[in-house]
Amino acid sequence: TPVVVAVRARGRAGLPRGFGLPDDLFAHDGQITKRPVRALTLSTLAPRPGEVLWDIGGGSGSVSVEWCLSGGMSCCIEPRADRAANIRANAAAFGVDHRLTVTTGRAPEALAGLPAPDAVFVGGGGDAGLFAHLWAVLPPGTRIVANAVTLESETLLAQLHATHGGHLMRIDIAQAGTLGRMRDWQAARPVVQWSVRR
Ligand code: SAH
Repeated sequence: TPVVVAVRARGRAGLPRGFGLPDDLFAHDGQITKRPVRALTLSTLAPRPGEVLWDIGGGSGSVSVEWCLSGGMSCCIEPRADRAANIRANAAAFGVDHRLTVTTGRAPEALAGLPAPDAVFVGGGGDAGLFAHLWAVLPPGTRIVANAVTLESETLLAQLHATHGGHLMRIDIAQAGTLGRMRDWQAARPVVQWSVRR
């Protein structure tokens, strides 16, 4: 079902214009940047019409789809064929498949031959080797945004921030849940985000 139809079924025509569309509008297997974190990530990526994104670790493609809805073009890199299929399905459902390409492969190898980007999002596969590669090949001024959830990747981002500067942000989100007959705060895994200009 095209997403616009799905949204209309809720009684409103068209998609909301802000970042952070509902997770359930995307085909995904659980590996998706969740709505509030995705909204902050797109805000940091700061798409402009006509700009090119490399979305490394595309997953469901939700970040790329939102980038393309802002008028950009995205090159998604995702090694898992089942997820690459989700990305293609999501791009088609949102009507951005003419501006979103999917490479089934691993970064950095799979980056060879892609058009030079204006921004790079690292949502997966962000090890020291990948960042060294990006720093070497990206044109000065390219925006880099990387999200980390593991202690290992968070440590790497803290080191990269010490070396290259930029901004380091920790996103701690909790949602109200239930605890017996009361409510409690249910904390999501913190996400650390490093953003920098090459
Ligand atoms: N931002 C995505 C979720 C990313 S999950 C979304 O919103 O849907 C991280 C993804 O990185 C996984 O799908 C994993 O398969 C992928 N990945 C892991 N190592 C990678 C590498 N070296 N290159 C590209 N993608 C990689």
